[in-house]
Amino acid sequence: MDKTTENQLHLAALCRSMGDLWSEEEVTELDDRLLEKDKQESELTLYGKLFSKPNANFLAFINTMRKTWKIDFVKCEVIEPGFFSFIFESIEDKKRVLENGPWSFSSHLLVLLEGDPDIPEHCYDFTHYAFWVHILGLPRARINEESVWNIASKIGIVEDVKLEARGAKVRLNLSCPLKTGTIINLGGNKWWLDFKYERLPHFCYSCGQIGHYATYCSEIPYETPGLAQDKPGKYGSWLEAEVRESSPCWKIFYGQLDQQPEEEMVPETPVTSSEEVPRPSPFATESNALAILPPAGPAINP
Ligand SMILES: [Zn+2]
Repeated sequence: MDKTTENQLHLAALCRSMGDLWSEEEVTELDDRLLEKDKQESELTLYGKLFSKPNANFLAFINTMRKTWKIDFVKCEVIEPGFFSFIFESIEDKKRVLENGPWSFSSHLLVLLEGDPDIPEHCYDFTHYAFWVHILGLPRARINEESVWNIASKIGIVEDVKLEARGAKVRLNLSCPLKTGTIINLGGNKWWLDFKYERLPHFCYSCGQIGHYATYCSEIPYETPGLAQDKPGKYGSWLEAEVRESSPCWKIFYGQLDQQPEEEMVPETPVTSSEEVPRPSPFATESNALAILPPAGPAINP
């Protein structure tokens, strides 16, 4: 019997046994009512996964998160390395943490999801997360909910729009490169828009994905000509909303690249401290950007 036939027979046998398993008689119906204490605990629970960082020191992690969240007590358990449950003392604490993210530990993104009493822990989807994204370069008269929503939908799934801040809360697919900007067409004229992300964790300056540094990039080796040299690449610190610098695409589009003074290259050095200190946003001082962050967000109230 050749290998292909053997595999097909094995697969057929597996399907037969799975069919038996899923037959109506084998399914156990559970009472969907919850005990009050379980319901309450579920409502106070968040699940969190450190994106691409499974081996965090637990004590350093939980102490840092308590301090960063400004919460005295949260019960934290390790489900598996890098995957945690958090039970808060109040719904307010839980909501504040959930809404004021994204949070990072040692620059590694902590993806948080609300507890659902009907979903097994291993089935939570940590592949997407929402970020506030500023959209720079829109003509003032074109800043309306529809246009901001349409532009932001090029980045991911739009959850909210704040016109005062010219931005949107967008759910990103974390396995995709960050979108750096887009071109709009207005009456036959094309304009470049820059995207800038609030509270971005560390990301790769080579491939644009969150979760690793360019020196560890498997997609585009750091030695690729041009990347490790003193030239602007497709990704850089200008993607962070806290950095007041336009992207190379913006500079090329608007003819500013040659007018810029020589800038000192900032090496992309991994953070060594175990403590994540929220960076104050320079946009926080501007009335037109305040509203992009959730009220009482730590980025504007560090
Ligand atoms: Zn990469």
